[in-house]
Amino acid sequence: MNKFWSSMVKRTDPYVPGEQLNEPDLLKLNTNENPYPPSPKVFEAIQKETENLKLYPSPTADDLRTEIASHFNLAGKENIFIGNGSDEVLAFSFMAFFEPSEAIRFPAVTYSFYPVYAKIFDIPYVETELNEDFSIKPEALFNAQGGVIFPNPNAPTSIYLPLQSVQEVLKNNPDKVVIVDEAYIDFAGESAATLISEYDNLLVIQTTSKSRSLAGLRVGYALGQKHLIDALIRIKDSFNSYTIDRLALAGALASFRDKAYFKEHTAKIIATREKTAEQLHALGFSVIPSSANFLFAKHESKKAEEIYLSLKERNVLVRHFGKQPIDNYLRITVGTDAEMDRLIDTLKKII
Ligand code: PMP
Repeated sequence: MNKFWSSMVKRTDPYVPGEQLNEPDLLKLNTNENPYPPSPKVFEAIQKETENLKLYPSPTADDLRTEIASHFNLAGKENIFIGNGSDEVLAFSFMAFFEPSEAIRFPAVTYSFYPVYAKIFDIPYVETELNEDFSIKPEALFNAQGGVIFPNPNAPTSIYLPLQSVQEVLKNNPDKVVIVDEAYIDFAGESAATLISEYDNLLVIQTTSKSRSLAGLRVGYALGQKHLIDALIRIKDSFNSYTIDRLALAGALASFRDKAYFKEHTAKIIATREKTAEQLHALGFSVIPSSANFLFAKHESKKAEEIYLSLKERNVLVRHFGKQPIDNYLRITVGTDAEMDRLIDTLKKII
């Protein structure tokens, strides 16, 4: 190890994102991106904003925060924090609300960034057991020493935890922050954003990367009571007093304003998801009922790793996590109908 490295560098355990192959005919179903382009209004807004690139962006992102607050029926921009993708918002949240001396809790099967952040910020953690069907066990998240974080719907299981159970977790951690990572909520049930006025310990984090087709723009946000948002702003200002760049601010704002486009395309993905789940079932897969833009599926006789490799040979990329207890599952992003037809046709050749 390099003698100049700080203890923080030594604690890093960098996250390995899904593969980014550049084959011309690749069907990329491994990182839960949206198959549709963003709204045409986003392109127009970004094009127009290029005229202002010589100027610094707003350090407070007031327009976007106000727009997002009204989208969620929250009082105002004081309830919204903006970051470079929800990954950055998550990192700031670990720094703002979790302590190196107190163990946080998250489910044993969950988004693999959480242990990465916990390690780098020196925060101990407990990975709590799931129910047999892979759903989150709310009781296991009660009375956490240092706070709680979980995705809803959970990743990579795609299972939604009803808001009643989310409330139980909030009530049973009255003095600790509970972070609900809603990266996939627009494909599922109700957002915990409706609970914000009731719970002073709730922070909801969302992203424009999935349901708004803006993974490349990097815009995430947190929703919560003012005292939590103020803490995030304090942390951010200690690193960089700007929020996100001008093009990202303009693009995200246009996306939130085009409500019809958003509604139409999330509905399309949900319809394709349900159709694909049935087709996979007919091919011998058991598919967990999904509340996200991906399917988590296991074949009755063929090993997940073999299917993953055979698909990859045929230029179809899905995600396989080689660890227990999910090593026999594949996570498949929902693409367009035509893309899913190609997936099913390819699977028919190898199963
Ligand atoms: N949370 C979860 C559960 C995710 O799966 C992802 C995307 N991989 C993120 C957060 C981060 O998304 P982004 O940084 O693009 O907003």
